[in-house]
Amino acid sequence: MKITKFIAGKISRKYLIKLSKIYCFFTSIIYRGGSYYCPICKGSFRKFLPYGAKNWRDGRLCPGCLSLERHRLLWLYIEKKTDILVENQKILHIAPEQCFYKVFRKSHNLKYITADLESPLADVKMDIIHMPFENESFDKIICNHVLEHITDDKKAMQEIYRTLKSGGLAILEVPLDFNREVTLEDEAINTPDLRKKHYWAHDHVRLYGRDYLEKLTQTGFIPVCDEIFTEFDEKEIKRMGLIKKKLLIFKKPEKSGV
Ligand SMILES: [Zn+2]
Repeated sequence: MKITKFIAGKISRKYLIKLSKIYCFFTSIIYRGGSYYCPICKGSFRKFLPYGAKNWRDGRLCPGCLSLERHRLLWLYIEKKTDILVENQKILHIAPEQCFYKVFRKSHNLKYITADLESPLADVKMDIIHMPFENESFDKIICNHVLEHITDDKKAMQEIYRTLKSGGLAILEVPLDFNREVTLEDEAINTPDLRKKHYWAHDHVRLYGRDYLEKLTQTGFIPVCDEIFTEFDEKEIKRMGLIKKKLLIFKKPEKSGV
């Protein structure tokens, strides 16, 4: 039963990726227009599409690359405030988002490695708490919306830190309740329904609070959380369909001189 479910899950995920490419081909034509602009696929559209498992809302999904508000915001940071698209470097992308994958894969300056336990987009099948890489292997590590699924998130953070080069950047977005001081993690919250109610999704194992930054600091990281949305006016924010949030980005300190 478990095996059948496992195989079915894999097939549907592969199919979903193929189907989404066909879907995007048509929606990018159908919704072509001048009102909205996606900084990732550089497409102009007459609308962004509705999306949301919990809160179904219009104006979220890009018809060209299926990016959401948070993806487009992060992309602007990557484009404007990092050297990812310019300098030769090695990047590890854990649980790769499809909208970024295509652009990174085509970037000739990148040695781009994707990793995941199951994703068909992954070059390396791996468990994040036992990463099969040498110390200081990557200039950047991107790992978005993963840690809230990992029981031993402390070990995962340590693995990301270990495999990142000194001075390197880790982009570690998670669902974070900024109204909450301390992360909610309770053994009694142990069913899909309870998890959805308290942790925002049926497969999350905690809801991070503001102490998420401390957890990363304790691992050794320096928070460089960025508010790039403040650099755009309301008209641009609406046109690109951005969310106004702090980006959760962390730096591994440079090696101190010996
Ligand atoms: Zn797009």
